[in-house]
Amino acid sequence: MAGNATRRVLAVLGSTGSIGRNTLDVVGRHPERFAVHALTAHRNEAVLFEQCRRYRPQLAVLVEAEAAERLAERIRRAGLPTRVRAGPEALLEAVRAPAVDTVVAAIVGAAGLPATLEAARCGKRILLANKEALVVAGNLFMREVHAHGAELLPVDSEHNAIFQCMPPGFVAGQAPEGVRRILLTASGGPFRTWTRERIRQATPEEAVAHPNWNMGRKISVDSATMMNKGLEVIEACWLFGLPAERIEVVVHPQSVVHSLVEYRDGSVLAQLGNPDMRTPIAHALAWPDRIEAGVRPLDLFAQGRLDFEPPDLERFPCLRLAIEAWHAGGTAPAVLNAANEVAVAAFLDGRLPFGGIPAVIAHVLERVPVLTPHSLEEILARDAQARAEAEAAVRDSVWKRVAS
Ligand code: NAD
Ligand code: MG
Repeated sequence: MAGNATRRVLAVLGSTGSIGRNTLDVVGRHPERFAVHALTAHRNEAVLFEQCRRYRPQLAVLVEAEAAERLAERIRRAGLPTRVRAGPEALLEAVRAPAVDTVVAAIVGAAGLPATLEAARCGKRILLANKEALVVAGNLFMREVHAHGAELLPVDSEHNAIFQCMPPGFVAGQAPEGVRRILLTASGGPFRTWTRERIRQATPEEAVAHPNWNMGRKISVDSATMMNKGLEVIEACWLFGLPAERIEVVVHPQSVVHSLVEYRDGSVLAQLGNPDMRTPIAHALAWPDRIEAGVRPLDLFAQGRLDFEPPDLERFPCLRLAIEAWHAGGTAPAVLNAANEVAVAAFLDGRLPFGGIPAVIAHVLERVPVLTPHSLEEILARDAQARAEAEAAVRDSVWKRVAS
């Protein structure tokens, strides 16, 4: 039970997605601990309506205006207390609400950046799933977190595991004394054992069929290309204040060890558990307390063995591209992310083969010059330029020229 824990008031951004639904599942187990003030989504009014019925937020936001109108009508007929707002600016309203002390940032892609950044500027506790926000604007975001005294808790399972293994008093973005390196685990995705040729021809159905995790379609494709691990290396550099050389990717197909921290004295601390996002979500929701998350206990005897292997950058060039973009610095990670979002969407639409994803990203990184950004506007301008270049590369079948 909560004892004398303060009741936290939440805004859940991206509540209809995989992280959003898992968050509400944990929240629903602890009505005495959590109140839901705002729920937001892109256009799924049916799921958002059901969530409003169950969690009775003050505010519901749909970015798409027509879907928001339909939601408002359903809410009115059901006699619910929820106000409905439309459009991307309403996401900021959900974050700013004075009643809200905790923002769950679970929008997918760079689309989540403005609202996540606003949460930092408002000094809220941020439960960060939206890794793209850090990849695109890590420098600006971490500056705002520190300037406004926001509290940053990672929800991404690996980063949450690393956070749990950090020494007491750890502050986000500041390399802790005594840590030698981070071992960032990766499942290797559905194509871990496939040949390069077979991977190039993979279909969307094959790419989204992740062996261990049930996630949104975009991150599932990112796991299949291993771009997800590349984005996570960048995410870890910002969250833990370490250079990329001190973050080693370790392929671990069972997804039971969620990452490890190696100390100078030779100690290696790991966090283990079944692959269920409700564990890191519950950890971040209740931090520093521990609460029931509905997760099956880990059975090591049934598990039997744990395997580890190095990543193969030849078969998974997206991981290499991400690390190169991190070293290039400035807007390069934002360009990488934008090109990846366009390439993944084109792949899921059947407009780009799987092997075309790294080809499009490499092409865009070559064409868009690196800049040291000074504002969100400069970052978003590079993001837009990269998206236009990526769309053109898909249309012009650039991958046919580079794939060899
Ligand atoms: P998802 O596709 O299942 O859900 C995305 C949510 O964002 C939905 O609620 C959708 O309505 C909303 N959304 C989409 N586009 C939007 C836009 N333009 N404006 C406003 N809202 C928009 O995605 P997910 O798998 O839940 O992932 C969410 C984030 O969490 C991603 O950044 C992902 O990398 C990260 N993450 C997910 C998992 C996982 O297990 N799913 C694990 C670690 C990290
Ligand atoms: Mg992860």
